[in-house]
Amino acid sequence: MFDTPSYDAHEKVVDVNDPETGLRAIIAVHSTARGPAAGGCRLWTYDDAAAARTDALRLSRGMSYKNAMAELPFGGGKAVIMGPVAPENREQIFTAFGRAVEALGGQYITAEDVGVGVSDMMVVARQTKYVSGLATEGSVGGDPSPFTARGVAIGIEAAVQARLGRDSLEGVRIAVQGLGHVGGYLCQELHARGAKLIVADIHTTRVVEMVDRFGAEMGNVADILLSDADVIAPCALGSIITPDVAERMTAAVVAGAANNQLSVPEVGAVLARRGILYAPDYVINAGGIIAVSAEYNGGVDRAGIDAQIEAIGPRLADIFARAQGEKRLTGDVADTLAKAKMVRA
Ligand code: NAD
Repeated sequence: MFDTPSYDAHEKVVDVNDPETGLRAIIAVHSTARGPAAGGCRLWTYDDAAAARTDALRLSRGMSYKNAMAELPFGGGKAVIMGPVAPENREQIFTAFGRAVEALGGQYITAEDVGVGVSDMMVVARQTKYVSGLATEGSVGGDPSPFTARGVAIGIEAAVQARLGRDSLEGVRIAVQGLGHVGGYLCQELHARGAKLIVADIHTTRVVEMVDRFGAEMGNVADILLSDADVIAPCALGSIITPDVAERMTAAVVAGAANNQLSVPEVGAVLARRGILYAPDYVINAGGIIAVSAEYNGGVDRAGIDAQIEAIGPRLADIFARAQGEKRLTGDVADTLAKAKMVRA
């Protein structure tokens, strides 16, 4: 494990193996420098345990950077549950996962990520208080996706202004890859701002829904990233901008919700050489964790959360300006700023 490139000095990595329920999970605590390590739990079917571990390590490091950049009082962590999970076993699996989170005594705080919903977190909450993203009566709590989507839309506005000099998204062509929790809300946000949408998802029903609701153009799963669009918004899984894709894409901007969009760090240089502006993923997709953190800590009003999400726009504009001025990659500028904030209080 210590030789895995994604390891990057994690504070703690826990393998969870619960033969009674069949739970196999990895909980990665990257940093608790700013506070407890906060980050969601992903349920995915990996090729093998090594792939699951790499995903957990990359995602947890990303959470440290994301929480630091968003000025949240949290470190970074992430959990992955290795699927598949049979529906009849789901409650038991999340019960066992809740016990594992509890055993960490508050070093790690969990919430939803890909493949995990509010109902799963309600099960986890029966075992531990170190959980967020729960259903509540008020306006804050539960599914973080609408907040993530709003932050991404605001970030796309900042990127379009920086790269294309346009003050609004009216008529801007935006290709959205992945129409799940975030992608669906993002289409709604972008449509409301006058953007023209091109959409793709492996689930045709979601595509049809976006076509019906927002007049979106149907794209192909195979080449949505190469669409004739101004902006590509990846909202499915990570590692999708490969060197080959980066060489062939024709859009001016890459700005979306997916974590770890660049398959290897070198892809950032390819995008920059080709004049494609990349909005660092963990900066633009922080809206969800902002809402989840507020829910966890309690006492933050909706207006306060909205203000923190609005701040994603100027934060990205600053990163874009620094990158241009200092002739650096946007990802490098963001990493430098995030690392400087990852200091023990
Ligand atoms: P989700 O599982 O609800 O949606 C993902 C969607 O992508 C699904 O509809 C799936 O069918 C689709 N998809 C998968 N592979 C695809 C492919 N090759 N082409 C097209 N579509 C494909 O997940 P989500 O919660 O919407 O999250 C999406 C991304 O955003 C993830 O990378 C996640 O880590 C990231 N993210 C989510 C949040 C949040 O608040 N949910 C916050 C930050 C980052």
